[in-house]
Amino acid sequence: MSHAGVSRSVAVMTAFMMKTDQLTFEKAYENLRTVKPEAKMNEEFERQLKLYQAMGCEVDTSSAIYKQYRLQKVTEKYPELRRLPQELFAVDPTTGSQGLKDDEVLYKCRKCRRSLFRSSSILDHSGGSGPVAFAHKRMSPSFTHVTGSQAQCTSYFIEPVQWMEPALLGVMDGQLLCPKCSAKLGSFSWCGEQCSCGRWVTPALQIHKNRVDETKMLPGLGSQTRKT
Ligand SMILES: [Zn+2]
Ligand SMILES: [Zn+2]
Repeated sequence: MSHAGVSRSVAVMTAFMMKTDQLTFEKAYENLRTVKPEAKMNEEFERQLKLYQAMGCEVDTSSAIYKQYRLQKVTEKYPELRRLPQELFAVDPTTGSQGLKDDEVLYKCRKCRRSLFRSSSILDHSGGSGPVAFAHKRMSPSFTHVTGSQAQCTSYFIEPVQWMEPALLGVMDGQLLCPKCSAKLGSFSWCGEQCSCGRWVTPALQIHKNRVDETKMLPGLGSQTRKT
């Protein structure tokens, strides 16, 4: 296993001990190294675990933090990343098997209009300000720079979507390209990337806000509905 892989598995185990045994980061890491003296993690993971501790080790299964954690565990379980469990991927919005919910927003490639992901796939990393930050946004992305904490983030961090799978397998990082027109949309790294707001997101799949447009689906279009 690569050095980065070992470091990550140590970090994930430490996080698990912090949560289940309610230990501080220092204590959990110390305990782990008593059992596995060779266990070591890099400074970036230490920093993230201290952040995790600062948030009270709270994990809500629907939260962005949990989805991130699940992604991290996957990178440990599948260190080669040659195949990933399908439940990890959000359904490709172009497959149309699921209609858009009322308050959901669809994000499309700005260049070719291909549907890329739904607002429910966005993993908010502001640590508490929550989904509100993504609601009621103006249609023109140029307005998103005006107010609020989200103004600092120039990218959406999202969960993996089915069309990304070929790009994600077998490599630690790379570009995310539009599956239709190959326009560059963003990048990903299983080791994490830093958002423009300063926060680390691990693993990171980021889509630049200025490469996509928001679309609110109108009732009766695109999804089946019984109401008239
Ligand atoms: Zn495109
Ligand atoms: Zn940010």
